[in-house]
Amino acid sequence: MRRIAFIQFDIRGFKVINDLYGEHFGDEVLYFITDKLGEICHENQYFVNLRSDVFMIVTEYGTQEELEAFIQKVDKKISGFRNTELNFVYGVYTVEDRDMELRQMEDRAAMARKAAKKNLVSSILFYKEQFKELLYTRKFIEESMKAAVAERQFQMYLQPKYSIAQNCIVGAEALVRWIHPERGMIYPNEFIPVIEENGFIRQVDYYIWEEAANFIRRCENTGITDCPVSVNVSRIHLQDHECQKVLEHILEKTKINRSLLELEITETVNDQQISQKALELKEEGFKLLMDDFGSGYSSLNILLETPFDVLKLDKKFIENMMVSERGKLILEQVVTMAEKLGLGLLAEGVETKEQVEVLKTIGCDHVQGYYYAKPMPAEEFFQMLLKDLRVNKNEEKNNGYTDGGTVLSSYSMPVR
Ligand code: C2E
Ligand code: CA
Ligand code: CA
Repeated sequence: MRRIAFIQFDIRGFKVINDLYGEHFGDEVLYFITDKLGEICHENQYFVNLRSDVFMIVTEYGTQEELEAFIQKVDKKISGFRNTELNFVYGVYTVEDRDMELRQMEDRAAMARKAAKKNLVSSILFYKEQFKELLYTRKFIEESMKAAVAERQFQMYLQPKYSIAQNCIVGAEALVRWIHPERGMIYPNEFIPVIEENGFIRQVDYYIWEEAANFIRRCENTGITDCPVSVNVSRIHLQDHECQKVLEHILEKTKINRSLLELEITETVNDQQISQKALELKEEGFKLLMDDFGSGYSSLNILLETPFDVLKLDKKFIENMMVSERGKLILEQVVTMAEKLGLGLLAEGVETKEQVEVLKTIGCDHVQGYYYAKPMPAEEFFQMLLKDLRVNKNEEKNNGYTDGGTVLSSYSMPVR
């Protein structure tokens, strides 16, 4: 028996097309697609323009290959209008239960289409049960995030950063954790994409920034004056000036040295918005760390005129580079280049002794990763610092030192 598929599709960036060329042009694009679908679809295939640029085809098919070939054929026919290339994303639901309501079939194709839109690798996705899971998770997050703030379920964890040569802690990165009373710990990768979409990330980030500043204050009060804490700055903050106001307010309230509250920003190529904001923050005296350097889109062009102070080498980048001699050579050159440009460098996601050895050899001294320590509750990290302060004091006594200089650079903490 022939099977049935619901194919839903729309254009990536249709809004941009409308903005760039005007709505009239946008309408023409839609007429063009409708015309082409009329040519392609035969009598047992139905198509409809659901709304705006969202279309749906319901078709019979025999094999999976036949269905995929049909989608490719459609794509080829509709992907070029005049001189404009149109990029479509397709969500497909292949009907298993013919008694299911039509509406539900359509919803599933829509879910797959929306997932395809977020997927940068593939533009055709088939509906899977896990999409439903994802939707449930999203709903859960949206329904419980406000209470989570009120009930202080978001917590700041700190992951230490180390100097290989000095064998001591040189700072920490603040990472948010959601400790839910029933679900337990929820990791940022699960909830940050959702709260970035609905803007709630602002509240969460502000809270973490403030916690980080409070931590720095607490350290200073205890005599630990040189433990910078970096915080993550979501892309959302780069759109307006609110984040600067919040940062200033936090600095004023906690009276900490602004150089100790470092900002991690993920830089991407040709992103004027980030470059502009980074420049502003730099002018305001903040220390800037370029997060995930070497991953995805980042390129050497960024370094041409960068306001960043430190490059954080991405975990995957390091892993990829370490498997070959050629890769190690590239890594070595990145270290040399950073040095010559006066940029600091920190390797992220360091997990093995071998990695530490390579990094040591090529001169990348600062590291962060499970090999040294996982992110931990702030209190635990604080105790760790205090313990080392005591070790340091004893060492000073035994060595007859009277002046230890700044705490972190004067003591050597045995790691592992
Ligand atoms: P990121 O900024 O690149 O942070 C590094 C991530 O790598 C953290 O994951 C950290 O726990 C993990 N990691 C550290 N060392 C190792 C290692 O040796 N091996 C492995 N496999 N992983 C390691 P986490 O905490 O789950 O955070 C994931 C991402 O979520 C972060 O990536 C960051 O982009 C985002 N994020 C975390 N906290 C915040 C926050 O407070 N605000 C914002 N806007 N984003 C945050
Ligand atoms: Ca980071
Ligand atoms: Ca990173």
